[in-house]
Amino acid sequence: MSYLVLARKYRPLLFSDVAAQEHVTRTLINAITAERISHAYLFTGPRGVGKTSTARILARAVNCTAGAGADPCNQCVSCREIIGGRSLDVLEIDGASNRGIDEIRDLRERVGYAPSSSRYKIYIIDEVHMLTTEAFNALLKTLEEPPSHVIFIFATTAPHKVPPTILSRCQRFDFKSVPTAAIAGQLDKVLKEEKIAMSPEVVELVARKATGAMRDALSLCDQVIAFCDGDYTVEKASQVLGVLDAELFFALSAQIAGRNTLEVVRFVDRLVDSGVDLEGFYAELARHYRNLIIFKLGAKDPSALDIPLSQAPRYAELAAAFELEDLVRSLQLILRFEEIFKFSGQQKISLELLLVRLTLLEKSVNITELISRIESGSSGPVLNPAAGAAGGGRSAAGNTAGRAGAEAFSGAGSGRESSVERGPAEPVAGSASEPAGPAVELPDNEQPLLAAGDLRPVDLVLLKQLWPQVISRIKLRKLSLFPVLSSSEPARFEDDVLTLTTKGDPYNLNRLNDSTNRQIITETIKKSFGLDSLKLEILAVESSIPVQPDRAEESRNPAAQSFEQLCRSDPLMGKIKELFDPELLA
Ligand SMILES: [Zn+2]
Repeated sequence: MSYLVLARKYRPLLFSDVAAQEHVTRTLINAITAERISHAYLFTGPRGVGKTSTARILARAVNCTAGAGADPCNQCVSCREIIGGRSLDVLEIDGASNRGIDEIRDLRERVGYAPSSSRYKIYIIDEVHMLTTEAFNALLKTLEEPPSHVIFIFATTAPHKVPPTILSRCQRFDFKSVPTAAIAGQLDKVLKEEKIAMSPEVVELVARKATGAMRDALSLCDQVIAFCDGDYTVEKASQVLGVLDAELFFALSAQIAGRNTLEVVRFVDRLVDSGVDLEGFYAELARHYRNLIIFKLGAKDPSALDIPLSQAPRYAELAAAFELEDLVRSLQLILRFEEIFKFSGQQKISLELLLVRLTLLEKSVNITELISRIESGSSGPVLNPAAGAAGGGRSAAGNTAGRAGAEAFSGAGSGRESSVERGPAEPVAGSASEPAGPAVELPDNEQPLLAAGDLRPVDLVLLKQLWPQVISRIKLRKLSLFPVLSSSEPARFEDDVLTLTTKGDPYNLNRLNDSTNRQIITETIKKSFGLDSLKLEILAVESSIPVQPDRAEESRNPAAQSFEQLCRSDPLMGKIKELFDPELLA
């Protein structure tokens, strides 16, 4: 006898065989018992969860001649004909294969005839949403006045694509994804029947890989049986199922928490060398961050996350190394980047870029803490958020996890830290630490830079000479302007118009052209040199074309504009914006 695949061999024959859809089967059993059969049913839900199987059970049940209870007997002539696909009264139409035009026309011609040997004539239309408009119209005519001997059972994975006129004439049942535990339970039964001894770990692996589809679980089980040839180890099963080792993700995110940028690039190298499917890896990476977020939110029950029990402590430990906001922004970045990654001809480089960006994401600052600090007037620590208690603690935890992760990854580096491996936010924040803090004496921004007896004229030479001091003063007013101004210098000074040249980087230009920033720069220069009036002109070095100050403002999105408005009207928000120049998350 030829080998029958498990999914066909163990197709449910009774309502009770359908896994995890009791809410559907119980209602159908009650309807059959009470003889309240509807003329049209719509079964919706993901693929492989038992929609078609339930439709066939229902078809057999209503036509069964044994008449013992709601379940079909599966023994009588009618039941056996339907199981064998030979019944003239139960017709299956696949909406996906030919979009049903001929079948529906045929259906309309024959639907009026009485069933040949059964009580009901039953049409099972799979993937009904794929039917053409003509087919739907033809179907609708029949549905409006169905003959009493006809039952339609529609199945679809996309109910939103079924016309409302059809939907409103059906009794609808929504099938759910089958939980991993229920799949594992069903697999256990099948394996026992097949006399195959598979460890619970391997069964769980198969069940999880099936992601809620019972039919997929049985097909995957077939693959594992064929590949492992009696030796069912987790390693072999992982290999044939293409399951990525969870350790990979723990190691990677520990490196990200520790901001070990270089280590992350090496990680991608090893990933590619070991032949891992990068798209599969990407999908798992998103799931991994989702799990971290859920643990960070305080989840205690790993079954809700669909992860093995043994991984729960690891997730809890790793989640502690991140701030919730940072995890959310990371996942946002991963999801936004997905399309770029998928369609990139250079997937390895795309993945490297993403992971490097994840390590470089600037840390979130707790806004409540920030506001309370500003209100209490302690400006020192606010100027340097990286030195705050929360930031420092997190960083240390991240580095510890980073080392642990590096050891877990075979052949990984020692996880040592160097300045190269730190994020770019660090040097900026670090350099601000010297003048920051209330104990340090700050240069007086209001005083002219030149001493009282210094009578040098204010010209381009002097401006160039004292430019570093000017930048230092501006930095104290707005930290984020420092890197932008560092790449700019005075180029011309005539008739109270100071021309600053900057690299043609659009980011720098936009920052310098921001009206608030221009005001800060102009005011600082005026006070530093005792000037009565000063006009600022910004010049891109490459193009040498002056940039219109208003353009940057106009191109802002509405959210940015209302944020600007809020900052202008609320002094506290204005202060926050001035100090941190926050990035607005859409
Ligand atoms: Zn029967």
